[in-house]
Amino acid sequence: AKLDGRGTYRFFEPEMDARMQARRKLELDMRQALARREFQLHYQPQLQLQSGTLIGCEALIRWRHPDRGLVSPLDFIPLAEEIGLIVPIGEWVIRQACRDAMAWPSHMSVAVNVSPAQFKSDRLVETIISALASSGLPAQRLEVEITEGVLLQENAKTLQTLHRLRELGVRVSMDDFGTGYSSLSYLRSFPFDKIKIDRSFVKDLATKPDGEAIIRAIAGLGKSLGMTTVAEGVETSEQMQRIRLEGCTDVQGYLISRPVPPAELAEVFALYPPA
Ligand code: C2E
Ligand code: CA
Ligand code: CA
Ligand code: CA
Repeated sequence: AKLDGRGTYRFFEPEMDARMQARRKLELDMRQALARREFQLHYQPQLQLQSGTLIGCEALIRWRHPDRGLVSPLDFIPLAEEIGLIVPIGEWVIRQACRDAMAWPSHMSVAVNVSPAQFKSDRLVETIISALASSGLPAQRLEVEITEGVLLQENAKTLQTLHRLRELGVRVSMDDFGTGYSSLSYLRSFPFDKIKIDRSFVKDLATKPDGEAIIRAIAGLGKSLGMTTVAEGVETSEQMQRIRLEGCTDVQGYLISRPVPPAELAEVFALYPPA
């Protein structure tokens, strides 16, 4: 143990030291990953229940690390966010997603996840304008998914950015709806196009007596606000049936398809031909 500047003891366990070193290594590796082209996007389709057609896909980043193999975004996005690296990584995601979507049927859109630090950076709107222009993707085919974290320090600038995206024609979705403290009040601050109902509520369908009631309430809310509602993490046809009954408009989940590399998308598209 050693006395730190505040006069309190801090303990440097060997275990903690190892963890800090691992973190530092991850940080170094991540700083080089873009240049080394180790990031990839996988895509997961969303199915419109009424028509039975695919309306678009969500882009989900993957890191093919030289020694670790495929690293989950859950294991590096938070760190990237913390050290600001999410800005260049996120920029790459937007550009790549727009390019990839150009190869899809023209009724399909692509959704990208934009995290709080990226949303706050001054470059987001310019990046999107530039990515749309250089790929040729119409703005209407791009969707931005934000979580409550983006709106947590809601201020004039956040709302201005959202409105600028909207003016461009880009659609905006509220991701992980229902998981935070004030999901409802955020719906009031901006007219989202889509509500993504968090996977945990879909899971509750089978296990909690009121599971259906929650989904039904969110679907009804979306309907009255003119927003589509997509249920995330749909894994079984029983869940899909319930979700349809409760009034959600779209579903996304392993039942339709796992997230797949771009080369495998055509196969998935063929399973759900346009009406
Ligand atoms: P998310 O935005 O909520 O994405 C949905 C996650 O649920 C994805 O995990 C997806 O693979 C997973 N999933 C989809 N269907 C099912 C299902 O039926 N069952 C189960 N158990 N899981 C399902 P993934 O790809 O590991 O991404 C995790 C999180 O990492 C994302 O959560 C998102 O917050 C973040 N993320 C992923 N890609 C990006 C990115 O390009 N930029 C940023 N900022 N964040 C990203
Ligand atoms: Ca998402
Ligand atoms: Ca989500
Ligand atoms: Ca999530």
